[in-house]
Amino acid sequence: MTNRPADLPKHIQLYIDGEFVDAASGKTFDVINPATNETYMTAASGDKEDVDRAVAAAKHAFDEGPWSKMLNRERSRILHKIADVVESRDEELALIESWDSGLPITQAKGQARRAAENFRFFADLIVAQHDNAFRVPGRQINYVNRKPIGVAGLITPWNVPFMQESWKLAPAIATGNSVVLKPASYTPLSAALWPEIFEEAGLPKGVFNLILGGGGTAGDALVKHPDVPLISFTGDSSTGAQISTNAAPLLKGLSLELGGKSPSVVFADADLEEALDATVFSVFSLNGERCTAGSRVLVQRDIYDDFIERFAERAKNIVVGVPEDPKTEVGALVHPSHFDKVMEYIEIGKGEGRLLAGGGRPEGFPEGTYVAPTVFVDVKPDARIFQEEIFGPVVAITPFDTDEEALELANNTKYGLAAYVWTSNLKRAHNFAHAIESGMVWLNSNNVRDLRTPFGGVKASGLGREGGYRSVDFYTTQQNIQVTLNEAHSPRFGAGK
Ligand code: NDP
Repeated sequence: MTNRPADLPKHIQLYIDGEFVDAASGKTFDVINPATNETYMTAASGDKEDVDRAVAAAKHAFDEGPWSKMLNRERSRILHKIADVVESRDEELALIESWDSGLPITQAKGQARRAAENFRFFADLIVAQHDNAFRVPGRQINYVNRKPIGVAGLITPWNVPFMQESWKLAPAIATGNSVVLKPASYTPLSAALWPEIFEEAGLPKGVFNLILGGGGTAGDALVKHPDVPLISFTGDSSTGAQISTNAAPLLKGLSLELGGKSPSVVFADADLEEALDATVFSVFSLNGERCTAGSRVLVQRDIYDDFIERFAERAKNIVVGVPEDPKTEVGALVHPSHFDKVMEYIEIGKGEGRLLAGGGRPEGFPEGTYVAPTVFVDVKPDARIFQEEIFGPVVAITPFDTDEEALELANNTKYGLAAYVWTSNLKRAHNFAHAIESGMVWLNSNNVRDLRTPFGGVKASGLGREGGYRSVDFYTTQQNIQVTLNEAHSPRFGAGK
């Protein structure tokens, strides 16, 4: 069985002002297939000089139009075409994502549809968009003139890369901005599809520009560029902090979607079958490489022994396999360096908790970046595997007795992205949810996302919200226009003599 997509390129390039180009320096970097560690292509490695050219092209497109000046309806039509093209490439995209990131093929399959949906959603939203007007009868009217801002810098991580890129691209261009996208270096293959998709849909040249290259070079140059007033970043919390520092002297608009160590809290009165399905899925789906993973499971003591036994049984039965096999539930981690990081945490965990499942490579996989779904129980709240984001198929489970204790445990990390609460008590569910320090809470629910809702975290999990109108707010400026309807009534300074 091979998942090698047909017509894999040997080399991919930057895309600036409607042209595919190599880096000005001629530098490249290697891209590997994580399942085999084989280097299968090179990518142009852009740096400051290339970023300068991409930003100049994006700024020219923004200043001269037509995109930034089009009617929302006209832009909406092109966004729907983008969605059509993305959908038509569903199969190809799933193969590419699975190949480049190690994601199981069945889980890669929905990503193109989700990406297309992001474009449809903002295509519809900008047409329905209305803005405030405030009237003081007979005296004045205020109205909001909403405008795109300019060049947006979009910096994205390697987990479900194409979908995450669409999440930023769709609202940024829907609102009339131009963009420079800098995707993660581990997974640039699917990003290389965007130029063709945008060209086919009729997006004017210069509106979308793609810079491949290192975070510390190309990403850094984008963050520090004076003609890029907006940076939308998804990635690690420490990188987010660095970007925040680097963007501060230029007072840029920042949206930071960062890491997480989200709790799944299971009370004894929960529907335990549903809770088990959801908590297992939450931490092991997408290879555990998921910012909203429920990577800490807090379980009420009355059901603890039974729950952890069943949880561990399920973890042991999870099918770890080659990403292309439709039976695979956990595939290959994205890169050997990330694999090493996850394995280090597993070794740390062996001194911090009781290992009930996994704990290293799965049987039959001496090579590649495969990790057996790993369950540690009786983990103390000060343990590193309780506190730090591992971003792999590793879970820390801890018992609690009371609601107060559960809340204290849930809030006891620097992160605050998502939380999942399982209980059949309505009042407890809501009160508990309100007290949790997280940007999002799912009650008796798997991670289901309605595109209208705010997405983002508190504490070290991020700054700002995207999703629905919040994305429109981020990528636009709201200018207030005030009109006086009768005399201006200004105090007559200097008219006294
Ligand atoms: P990183 O922070 O390492 O990288 C993210 C992106 O930033 C990459 O494109 C990277 O480039 C770039 N980058 C790195 N350093 C800089 C810099 N100094 N200036 C500008 N850009 C830079 O994160 P990962 O790619 O490792 O992604 C995993 C992280 O993303 C996890 O912590 C996860 O929780 C988080 N995440 C958060 C989500 C959320 O919505 N809250 C969603 C998904 C993931 P390069 O790849 O070349 O290093």
